[in-house]
Amino acid sequence: MAEKQTERRKTGLSFEVFPPKKDEEFENVYQILRDLGSLRPDFISCTYGAGGSRAGKTIEITSFIQKELCIDAIAHITCVGFTREDLDKNCAALEAAGVTHVLALRGDRPQTMTDEQYDRREFSYAVDLIRYLREHTTLSIAGACYPEKHFEAPSIEEDLRRLKEKVDAGVSSLISQMFFDNDFFYRFLDRARAMGIQVPIHAGIMPITTAGQLGTTVSLSGSSVPKKLADLIATYGDDKEDMRKAGIEFAVGQIRDLQEHGVDGIHIYSMNKVKTTTDICNMLRPSL
Ligand code: FAD
Repeated sequence: MAEKQTERRKTGLSFEVFPPKKDEEFENVYQILRDLGSLRPDFISCTYGAGGSRAGKTIEITSFIQKELCIDAIAHITCVGFTREDLDKNCAALEAAGVTHVLALRGDRPQTMTDEQYDRREFSYAVDLIRYLREHTTLSIAGACYPEKHFEAPSIEEDLRRLKEKVDAGVSSLISQMFFDNDFFYRFLDRARAMGIQVPIHAGIMPITTAGQLGTTVSLSGSSVPKKLADLIATYGDDKEDMRKAGIEFAVGQIRDLQEHGVDGIHIYSMNKVKTTTDICNMLRPSL
C-alpha cells in the first residue's frame, strides 16, 4: 500500500474515522476526510457499526477516500451474526465502490442476538472471515490485535496463538487496540515477533482530550490507564482548553517514544476530530 509514502517516512501514519450516526451530519464528513487527507496518511480506515448497521455508509466513506482523495482506504467489516450471503453482498458492494482493503473483524455479539443464534453463527471468529475472504475475494486483509489481550481470551499467550492463526490465514497487516502505556505494546510486539508474526503492526493511539472521554474509552477498550494519564486528568480535567492541550501532549509523547522504538506505524483513532489530529501531526513534523 502507498509505497511512495512509506518510503518517505520511517514510521507509518494512519487514521481511523467513523460514519456519523445521523444522516444530516453526513455532509460534513467529506470535509473532515479532505482535511485529514491533507495530513497525508498512508491509509484511512473507517469503522463498521456493530452488527452491520450503516454498513452502506462505511462503503460510501471508504470509496470517497480511495477514489476522490487517492489515499488507501480500509473498510472495517464484521462477521458475527452474518450469513455467507450477507457477506457476499457486502464484498460485492465494496468491489463496486472500488474499495480493495478491509479490516476483517469478528465484532461484538449484538444485544439482540439470542444464545442459540450466537452458538449457531456461521462465522465463529475473525479467522473464519479471513479464510472466507481469502478464498472468495481478492481483497487485501488486515486484522485487529490487542496489546493487553482481548477481553475474552484466557491469557495473552492464548490470544497470541489465535492472532498467529489469523496471520497464517492471510492477514497482511495488523492494527492494534488503543493503549496508553507503551510498555504493553513493546512486550506484545516482542512476543508476537518471537512467535513468527512478521506482518506490519500499527500502534493504536487514542488522544484523550476531555476527562469524560477516558471513562467511555477505557470501558470499551479495556486499556490500562497509567498513573501519568490519571494524574493529568486529575490536574487538568476541569479546564477544557488545558485538558485538550495536556491530552495532545500525552499522545505526542507516546508517539515519539514509539517512533524511537522503530514501530511500523501509528494509527490515530481520530474520532473525526480534525483539529486534534492536525495539532498532533504538526507537533510531530517533520518526523511523521
Ligand atoms: P477475533 O480475532 O475473532 O478474537 C476474538 C476473541 O476470540 C479473542 O479473545 C481471541 O483470542 C478468541 N479467538 C479467536 N479465534 C478463536 C478460536 N478459533 N477459538 C477460540 N477462541 C478464539 N468492532 C465493530 O463492531 N466495528 C468496527 O469497526 C471495529 N473496529 C475495530 C478496529 C480495531 C483496530 C480493533 C482492535 C477492534 C475493532 N472492533 C470493531 C472491535 C472488535 O470487533 C471486537 O474487539 C471483537 O470482540 C473482536 O473482534 P476480533 O476481530 O479481534 O476477533
